Amino acid sequence: MRSLLILLLITLCGCQTTLQPRQDARIGTGSLVLLVSIDGTRVDYLDRGLTPNLQRLIDEGVRARWMTPAYPSLTFPNHYTLVTGLRPDHHGIVQNTMYDPELGTFALADRDAVTESRWWEGLPIWVSAERAGIDTAVLFWPGSEAAIDGVRPGYWQPYDDKMGYADRVDTIVAWLAGQAAEADPVALATLYFERVDKMGHEHGPESTEVRAAMAEADEAIGRLLQGLSDAKLLDRVNIIVVADHGMAEVAPNQFVHVDQMVDPNDAQWISLGQSAGFQPRRGRAAAAARQLLGRHEHYECWRKADLPARWHYGSHRRVPPIVCQMDEGWDALAGRAAEWRAQFTGTRGSHGFDPALPSMQTIFAARGPAFRSGAELPPIESVDVYTLLAHLLGLRPAPNDGNAEALLPALR
Ligand code: AMP
Ligand code: ZN
Ligand code: ZN
Repeated sequence: MRSLLILLLITLCGCQTTLQPRQDARIGTGSLVLLVSIDGTRVDYLDRGLTPNLQRLIDEGVRARWMTPAYPSLTFPNHYTLVTGLRPDHHGIVQNTMYDPELGTFALADRDAVTESRWWEGLPIWVSAERAGIDTAVLFWPGSEAAIDGVRPGYWQPYDDKMGYADRVDTIVAWLAGQAAEADPVALATLYFERVDKMGHEHGPESTEVRAAMAEADEAIGRLLQGLSDAKLLDRVNIIVVADHGMAEVAPNQFVHVDQMVDPNDAQWISLGQSAGFQPRRGRAAAAARQLLGRHEHYECWRKADLPARWHYGSHRRVPPIVCQMDEGWDALAGRAAEWRAQFTGTRGSHGFDPALPSMQTIFAARGPAFRSGAELPPIESVDVYTLLAHLLGLRPAPNDGNAEALLPALR
C-alpha cells in the first residue's frame, strides 16, 4: 500500500530524473477523460438549486469547495493554465489581448493569432496524449486551433459559438464511443459552454439571465450523462467539470476612462478591462510612471517586476512594463466601449479581478471510475488540474506550477 502511494506521488509530482522515460511516454493504462468547461461559472452558482444534473455528478463524485483561478482571471489565460498546469506568466497566454514584439497583437477573435503556434508555450495535455498514441478530441478549447509543438488534437474545429449545446454534447459522445465516421474512439475529449459567462457580462451574476444560462448548461450536462449512459460509457469515463473564473457585479458607471489613467501621449494601453497593461512611449517612461504607478481611487499600478508575488505574474516578455489592477467591480475602458458604458444604466458583470476575491472563485467537480464518491475537497487552484489529467491518462506530467498533491484526495 505504502509503495503504491509512493508510486502515485512520483507519478503525480512530475519529478524528473535523467533515467525517466520521455514525458510523452505512457506510464500506465490510463482511462477515458472528458474535461468540460462552463465558462464564467462562479462557485456559488452550484448552490442555487438550478443544476440538478451537476448535483448528481457531484453526489456520485467529488467537488472542490472552490477553485482559484490563475492571474489574470480571464478566459484564455485560465483555460490554457488548466490544460498545461502552467501559470500564464509561464505559458505565454498572459492576457486575452496582448502584444509580442515578434508576433504582433493577439486577440480572441483574431484567427491568425489563435492559430499561430508561437503564441502557445508549454505543452497542452492533448499534445502529450497524441504523442503517446492517445486519440484526442477538443470541441473548443483555447489553443486547440494551433499546431502546438507541431501537434493538433486528433479532432478539433474552429471555435463556433453558434454550435448548439446539444450538438456539441452528441458530437463528443459519438467521438468517445468511436461512432464518428472512420474514427477510433478518443480517450481525451473536451467540451466548452460560453453562455453563462456571456450572460454574466451582460446582466450581472445575480441576474435571471445567468440563472437561465446555468440551467441551460446543466441541461447539457444531463444530456451528456444520458448520452454516455446510452453508449454504455458512463462508468468508464472520468468527467471533470471546471470553469475558468467567476463573475463580479459591475454597477452602472463603475468605469474609469483610460485617458484619465495616463496621458495617451505618455503611454499606450496594451490591454484594458480589469488587468490593464501599459507600454510607455519612447522617452516618456518617467512621465508614464509618475501618472500610473501606485494606488489610485479605483485601481493600483505596478511595474511588472513589482507586482504582488502571490499573482506569480510579470516575468513574461508579453506582460507590458506597467500593469494596473482594477478594484472589484470597476473596469478600465476606452473609445466606444467607454461611450457606450456612460449611457448604460443596467447592472453588468466582469471578471479579471484579483483571483483571491470570493467573486472570482470557480468550480471543480468530477465523477468517474477514478474518483471517490460524495467527497468535498478543500479549495484547489486551476494550476492543480493538469497533473490530475496526466495521471488519469497514464501520462507523465510535464514540469508545471501545480501542487501535485492537491487532487490526490479526489481519487479512489
Ligand atoms: P472573456 O470573457 O473576455 O474572458 O472571454 C470569453 C469569450 O471568449 C467568450 O464569450 C467566448 O465566446 C470566447 N471564446 C471562448 N473560447 C474561444 C475560442 N476557443 N476561440 C475564440 N474565442 C473563444
Ligand atoms: Zn471566461
Ligand atoms: Zn468573460
